[in-house]
This record gives sequence, structure tokens and C-alpha cells, in this order.
Amino acid sequence: MAMTHYQLFINGEFVESTAKKTFESINPYNQEVVATVSRASVEDTRAAISAARKAFDEGPWPRMKREERSAMLKAISDKINERQKELIALEVADSGSTVRKANEDIYLSARNMNYFSKLAALELTEPVEGLSKPGFSQNLIIREPIGVVGAIIPWNFPLKMAVWKLGPALAAGNTVVLKPSELTPCTAMELAVIIREVGVPPGVVNIIPGFGDEAGEELVRSPHVDKISFTGSTAVGKRVMSLASENLKKITLECGGKSANIILEDADMDLAVDGAMYAIFYHQGQCCEAGTRLLLPQSKYTEFLERLVAKTQKIKLGNPADSSTDMGPVISKKQQERIIGYIAKGKAEGARVATGGQAPKDQSLSRGFFIEPTIFADVDNRMTIAQEEIFGPVLSVIRYESEDQAVALANDSIYGLGGGVWSKNKDRAISVAKKLRAGTVWINEWHLISERAPFGGYKQSGIGREFGIDGLKEYTETKHMHIDELGTREKKFWYDVVVPKS
Ligand code: NAD
Repeated sequence: MAMTHYQLFINGEFVESTAKKTFESINPYNQEVVATVSRASVEDTRAAISAARKAFDEGPWPRMKREERSAMLKAISDKINERQKELIALEVADSGSTVRKANEDIYLSARNMNYFSKLAALELTEPVEGLSKPGFSQNLIIREPIGVVGAIIPWNFPLKMAVWKLGPALAAGNTVVLKPSELTPCTAMELAVIIREVGVPPGVVNIIPGFGDEAGEELVRSPHVDKISFTGSTAVGKRVMSLASENLKKITLECGGKSANIILEDADMDLAVDGAMYAIFYHQGQCCEAGTRLLLPQSKYTEFLERLVAKTQKIKLGNPADSSTDMGPVISKKQQERIIGYIAKGKAEGARVATGGQAPKDQSLSRGFFIEPTIFADVDNRMTIAQEEIFGPVLSVIRYESEDQAVALANDSIYGLGGGVWSKNKDRAISVAKKLRAGTVWINEWHLISERAPFGGYKQSGIGREFGIDGLKEYTETKHMHIDELGTREKKFWYDVVVPKS
């Protein structure tokens, strides 16, 4: 793939960083440079914020008819579809996503944006139930855009995450400054090209590739940004929350997870073994809601584990662009080393490596940041590998004696993002699912996140929800409007309270 240079997208134009600094985005499979990218400085970030501010305060976007905004989001969705092939190839090169996953991601990016275009057309004003009475008053709940939204995203689903932030923020009438991850800026910059092509007014969307402690922190600190919508690690989420408190900025945080996958004794074993693999190894384990802790009943422990290990050993690592590859590299050298560090900790704390446990020795993979799919057996839930988010292809298998113990182990975590229960008995699975302190729970399934259903975390996995009407409302301020219908002053309840009658 030819190397590209990406500039910052500010106020409808592509511009170089004022400091003329750039960085390289690297293909994690072969370490080739995919693109050189302008690096947004604090000054550039301020320029992007002031473009978004002006577009919100004076521009047409928040004042436009809902149908017009909706049509523009639909046009963005159509263009993503048109450019599907090229975007898939770019996502694979930039993020190490397998082509099979990237096919899904780009298709879903278009579908999600199409859904957000429908949300944009919704009338959100509603009456206050039980309060309005003809002849007394009319009471309305009006949802208005918050203003300038600063959106900060990670590297695991680059285009999808950009769409997940831009779609609802724009649908609600906000303007946005989006900072993609410094590790995967490419498809977000292609999205900027699309946004310009479809004629979104200047300043409504600004996309500034850059680093967290520079562009990211400036977005969070700025008094001219009204809301931060952040997806990333819990550690950075805490930093964002504390900086945003300076001016009580609104925040939504989608952070880390350590989701428990509970196999009940009556689960369909063939299905559950495959499901457990999908839950952890999809995208090399780099999913916030991955099933990282597998809870097995004592009675099925040995058999399940044996089958899981045997099948895991068949996973084919390789070039992510090749459709026969099951797993690609992890995102970076740093991340590879971090995962190796966790594997060492797991061993040191007494867990047993049932398979994997290192970077593969295969010479053909030596340029990539690979980690063998790894299963730790005999894990105690108090061990580091069961408590901390590894964000790689490492599964912790934990034994349980009773259903109550399984629930207690699942909930013994600072996180609460996802969870799963596998059983042939739907009622039993539902009763367990209800006891899990997590934002999404799948029964006999994993990873299904719909643009229509609220997604987000309990506990330290986050604040707020994305998707559906709940997600749209996260990008609105709520106004109660009271419209008097009494007419005369004598009928007012306050008449006798403080205002003298004459
Ligand atoms: P990260 O927290 O390191 O970075 C996320 C983003 O924040 C990046 O754009 C980064 O540049 C920026 N950033 C870093 N420091 C910052 C600062 N001080 N101020 C402002 N911005 C800053 O996370 P990552 O490594 O890119 O992604 C992996 C993490 O994301 C995992 O913890 C994963 O669970 C989480 N994640 C959560 C969800 C979810 O929906 N809950 C989805 C995907 C990923």
C-alpha cells in the first residue's frame, strides 16, 4: 500500500500542524509505515476547538432542520459504503485487525451511521406526563445540543469508534473535535475526507490526530468544550474525569473491563467452547468487553478445558490481510511487552499455562507484534491476571463449586462492562444474568453490541451509555419549559405568598 500523508482537519480544511510536527502510523504486522500524520499541538487543538465553538454558536448546524442533519449523516453512511474496500484495507494495515474483522467493522460503521441518521430525525421534545393540564399549564421536556463535544477514542475499532462518537453527537446538533488514537489515525482521517465531500458545514467536525497528553488533555481542559466523550482505559478515564471537573464539563466514559464468562453445567458444550474462544480471542483479545475470565463448574472443568485448549491450538496466526488468518498481531511493541509482562506475573503467582504463553517462534511472524493465544488454568480470582485488564489474547480460567460462587467471583472485580452465561435452560441463565453487575450480559452469545441498545459500564468500566435513545440523550441538555395557561394573576398559587395583592 502506498504511503500517505494525513493533515489535520480543522474548520473544513486540511492543514499542517502549526509546529510542523508529524508522527508515523505503523503496520503492526510488518512495522512498515502506513502513513505520516500531522501531530496536533496544543495550539492546533485550540484552533479546532474555536472552529467548533464558532460553528456551534453562530453556524447553521444546531439550528438546521432535523431532516437536513439526518440527510447529511445518511450521505456519510453511503460514502463509507462506497469506499468499503479501500477502508477495509487501510484498517487492516493500520490496526492489525484481521480482514475478516475489518470487513465487519467497515460494514457496521456505515450501518451504525445510517442508524444515527435516523436518530437525528427524531423529535425529542415530549410533554411532562401528569403535569400538564389545559387551563393550568403546558410542560415540555426539550432536548438541546450541549455545544462543543471533545471526543477521544482508542485504537481497537478505529473507524467504528469515530462513527460511534460523531454519529450521536452530530445527530443531537452538537459540533465536535475528534481525537483519534495516535496508533490508528488513518481511517478517521479518511472519514474527514468524506465529511468534507458531503458538505457538512466548516467547523462542525474537526479531526485532529495527536497524542493524549498534548491534544487530548487540551480538549479536556479547555473551557470552550462543553462535553467530553471518552473511550479508553480506566486509568486515563480517571484523569479525564478529574481534569473535566475544573469547569464541571459533562462526561461520558467508556472504559476498561474484565468480563466474566460463566459456563453452567447444563451448557451446550460444543457451543460454549467455541463461544468462550470467540469471547476472548476475537481481535487478539483487544476488546473492552472481551470474556477474559472463564468460570467453569467443577464437574466440567477438566473436559471443558481440554477441549478449549485443543481447539485454541488450531488458531492460525498470520498476515491479517490474508482471509485464512484467525488472529493477527497486537497493536504495538509496547502492548506486546505489556502482555508478556502479565503472562510472567500469572506464572509467578502460581497459575498454570495450559497453552500459549509467549510470542510465537515462527520466523515468518517475527516482524509482527504477535502473542500466542494463551490460556491460564487454575487461576485464583485474586491473582493479577484475573483482576487487571491485560487487553491481549490471554484467558484466565477459574473453577467454581456453586452457582452462587460463580456469581460472587464474576462480581469480584472493579470492572462491570460485560458478562456472559451459557446454559440450555433459559430461565436459569436469565436468573444468573440478572445477578451480574455489568452493563451488557449475553446469554449463549458474546460481543453482540447493537447501535440500538445502550452499551456502557457499571463500576469502574464507565459513566453513561452509548447507542440507542439513551446514547443520544447523553449528547443533550435537558430543558423543562413551563408554559402558563392560567392567564390571570388571581389564579396563581404564589399570589398570596409574597406579592402584595395591591
Ligand atoms: P488509552 O486510555 O491509552 O487511550 C485512549 C485515548 O485517550 C487515546 O486517543 C489517547 O491518545 C487518549 N489519551 C491518553 N492519555 C490522555 C490524557 N491524559 N488526556 C486525554 N486523552 C488521553 O486506551 P487505549 O490503549 O487507546 O485503548 C485501550 C483501552 O480502551 C482499554 O482499556 C479498553 O478496555 C478501552 N476501551 C473501552 C471501550 C468501551 O466502550 N468501554 C471500547 C474500546 C476500548
